[in-house]
Amino acid sequence: MLQRRTAHPAVYILPMLSVTFLGTSAARPTVERNVSAMSLVREGETLLFECGEGTQRQMMRYGVSFALSEIFFTHFHADHFLGVIGLIRTLGLQARPEPMRLYGPKGAKKLLTQALQLGVERVPFEVEIEEVKPGMVLRETGKGKRETYDIHVFGTEHGGGSVGYALREHERPGRFDPDKARAAGVPEGYLWGKLQKGETVGLADGRTVSAEGIVGPKRPGRLVVFTGDTRPCAGVVDAAQGADLLIHEATFGEEEKERAKETGHSTAREAAQVALAAKARRLVLSHVSARYSISAEELVKEAREVFRETAVAKDGMTIEVPFAD
Ligand SMILES: [Zn+2]
Ligand SMILES: [Zn+2]
Repeated sequence: MLQRRTAHPAVYILPMLSVTFLGTSAARPTVERNVSAMSLVREGETLLFECGEGTQRQMMRYGVSFALSEIFFTHFHADHFLGVIGLIRTLGLQARPEPMRLYGPKGAKKLLTQALQLGVERVPFEVEIEEVKPGMVLRETGKGKRETYDIHVFGTEHGGGSVGYALREHERPGRFDPDKARAAGVPEGYLWGKLQKGETVGLADGRTVSAEGIVGPKRPGRLVVFTGDTRPCAGVVDAAQGADLLIHEATFGEEEKERAKETGHSTAREAAQVALAAKARRLVLSHVSARYSISAEELVKEAREVFRETAVAKDGMTIEVPFAD
């Protein structure tokens, strides 16, 4: 039986936003951690960032949907993209009709095309590969326009034109005040919905009422920033200004800070300095060296001396990103 729907046009449903870490180990998998991959779910849409070897199995394990249409790569070191070969094959076996879009910095076309040609069968759905550059704003998916957020591409320092991605939601409508709407004589119903959108409404008695004073100022959306591998750098600080969640690599601890510099990676403390400089709300460390595979508490401790709101990711961990207000 069909359920009767009651219209509540003035109720603004807050979209859920969460990230799930599918792989948090640097360079190679360990017993506890797989190599890089992270899914982001927003309003039922799933995006994948990186796709290290074995990512498809991690997705099954941690309940991440295979109904995704975009994968974002930060660079093409093997631990960040080898999993795309198997994942695309599996999606092909599932008789998927939708196209898939893959994003990555310079070299993406050549490398990903080669990866997709591995294996005998032809991929039975369309795969588009888009090369991205710092400063680009990805407003469209393979299916059309992103409605309520954009993906911003920023430069990182890991050699070879590596990039990071920032998911930035558009501004939200201001807070609606039902008492003020009633006081202005606007009856509850579809007119409330119009006011909520900032429109001026006409009443039965001929008066018009504007949204001003009934609806508060627009409120910022959320910002989630994913760095991929990088040295601490100004590009990330800029991209992560006021981020609700900054996911920064922290391959090493303080005692290996020279090694971090030589290999184009960050220490946990350096990641914390970036979070502090960006005035981020929360920092999650990922891409940890195998020596921290079992316990990365040392990394958290070092980072928290600089930035309190720090956690370290582990495989299967899901983090909800609430609105700041
Ligand atoms: Zn890596
Ligand atoms: Zn790398």
